[in-house]
Amino acid sequence: MSDLYGKLYVVATPIGNLADISFRALDTLRQVDLIAAEDTRHVGLLLQHYGINNKVASFHQHNEDKMADNLIQKLRDGLSIALVSDAGTPLLSDPGMPLVRSAKEAGITVVPIPGACALITALSASGIAISQFSFEGFLPRTASARKAFFTEKLCVTTTWAFYESSHRILSTLEDMLSVIEPDRQIVIARELTKLHETIVKTTLSKAVELVRQDEYMRKGEFVVIVDGAAKISKEAALLSPEHTKVLSILMQKCTTKTAVELAVEITGARKKLLYQAALDLEKGA
Ligand code: SAM
Repeated sequence: MSDLYGKLYVVATPIGNLADISFRALDTLRQVDLIAAEDTRHVGLLLQHYGINNKVASFHQHNEDKMADNLIQKLRDGLSIALVSDAGTPLLSDPGMPLVRSAKEAGITVVPIPGACALITALSASGIAISQFSFEGFLPRTASARKAFFTEKLCVTTTWAFYESSHRILSTLEDMLSVIEPDRQIVIARELTKLHETIVKTTLSKAVELVRQDEYMRKGEFVVIVDGAAKISKEAALLSPEHTKVLSILMQKCTTKTAVELAVEITGARKKLLYQAALDLEKGA
């Protein structure tokens, strides 16, 4: 690292409530030579709120490759830069990766200034196990790709979470219900830190009903958290994940007995193992 280079600060900003910003973040935004922001007007409101008067450059997904070179040159020239996104932690489903990667490659110090993040905020109040989880960002836009995604996730036993917009929340949950068992626990975290913050923990089928019936549950910004699939017994563990997935899908469409019989025919796996796996799935063991 060269002492002559400036530093790149990756600064988290609020996800709704303007009070959710650290003293260190505010000091950084005040002191850097330049703020690189996803939306200059958006960050302008934050800066105005805290009486910060500083230079802001536009840095968004459509110009980020070109701007990254430009900003790296400024950092090499000794200027310090703060990277902010519209909300929360930059790079997390937000622009900034090319800039941070190039900065690291160029030997420039990258300093994280931690703060709000919708994912972590939702997880912290979800009541769903989070000792292990995966974050899936935004899901695919087409129903078929989303269903394929949910099929992949069906037998994953750890928690997973994703971001969703008001336009797609209902169709995404409906697609999920067509693949994942109806009694799976999920959390819908909506408008976090804002006036209409809502955090609902319920089963997948009840969540779909709620979002269908209540138009407010289709408004705003969303994080969805999904509990992992039930852990299976030793016998069932002898089955491949593919076999269990087939069985689980069939069990949503027909009786347990028929599902097991069909799964035997489709997978060729032993009936005893499939039957035990079906019992495990039924009792959510
Ligand atoms: N970088 C941000 C972060 O740290 O959370 C996320 C940016 S991503 C472009 C925006 C998405 O994050 C929204 O569509 C929504 O899914 C989620 N999100 C952001 N703010 C939220 C809030 N206040 N409540 C719920 N979800 C939010």
